[in-house]
Amino acid sequence: MVIVMKENCPKRQVGEVLAVIRQYDLNPRIISPAPRVIVGVVEDLDKKLFDQLTRAVSEMEGVDAVEMFGTSWKLVSRSFRPERTTINVAGQVIGGREQAVIAGPCAVESLENILEIAASVKEAGATFLRGGAFKPRTSPYSFRGLGEEGLKYLAEASRLTGLPVVTEVITRRDLPLVAEYAGILQIGARNMQNFALLEAVGELDKPVLLKRGLMATVKELLLSAEYILAKGNSQVILCERGIRTFEKETRNTLDISAVPLLKQLSHLPVIVDPSHAVGKRELVPAVALAAIAAGADGLMIEVHPDPDYALSDGRQSMTLEAFRDLMRLVGSVREAVCDAYNSGGVLCP
Ligand code: PEP
Ligand code: MN
Repeated sequence: MVIVMKENCPKRQVGEVLAVIRQYDLNPRIISPAPRVIVGVVEDLDKKLFDQLTRAVSEMEGVDAVEMFGTSWKLVSRSFRPERTTINVAGQVIGGREQAVIAGPCAVESLENILEIAASVKEAGATFLRGGAFKPRTSPYSFRGLGEEGLKYLAEASRLTGLPVVTEVITRRDLPLVAEYAGILQIGARNMQNFALLEAVGELDKPVLLKRGLMATVKELLLSAEYILAKGNSQVILCERGIRTFEKETRNTLDISAVPLLKQLSHLPVIVDPSHAVGKRELVPAVALAAIAAGADGLMIEVHPDPDYALSDGRQSMTLEAFRDLMRLVGSVREAVCDAYNSGGVLCP
């Protein structure tokens, strides 16, 4: 339930509404601050309780409207928080005017390798460094990451470049360790519905990059994000990374419509990972630009100095030079569309 207060209503009236809701053993939250306060009640209300509560508050001083959430996700929804969420990690913003670019290898392979990549992507204009130290691999015999050693290498690359680190956590057991090193914790596609892990990151004060599952609908992605927000952590970034379809010439099929759709349904920032979507490095630039044109707040791109010899996902990893060229184009597409998105109208559903 959402209670919309009148613009500039006195604080006292908001307090009275909160007090009435609490009498029903519910836990109301202010989801939008003054001048137009919006109060949200996320608990499931049956029709009887909803009607009772509506009667109790709708005639109160300062109340403008009482509405039901139209969807089963609540904290992530635009009706809960009309303004867009921005996430700031050490001065790098995701969801703001500038696009965020998270670049780096699929997996951290060695100190020299990550230092070379970090310096190069930083110079090209990347704003975050990615690299997996704990890798979820389809085969148990594939390279599964360097573990804590990989995290230490990331920390050194971050110290030298100033780029905050995005790295994946795959189990709850590893979470305290990975959280020490990560500026943003990545939950990968395979763990999108690992609800225990979602709740565990929901208890931290650390941004989370939540990737869409291989076979997940947009609704399921939003409900997974809801798990994190429901535990108190509202710093979530949604990531479209392609879904599995009958098409086998690309690794996955990028659902480009998910970008405006997610932004219509949710206040959370949305980024796109074209690397895992297409699986072929030569296709990454066009798809990356399409994502920016579609309104994505940023990109996650795999980069490697010698992709043919990468320990994972080499086929889709861009060379350092190709990434540099792409970054120039990203800037101009972003500039071309940014004003259109910021000024509303046809591009902002
Ligand atoms: C990754 O980012 O390296 C990764 C494993 O991605 P995904 O979870 O989207 O497959
Ligand atoms: Mn990868």
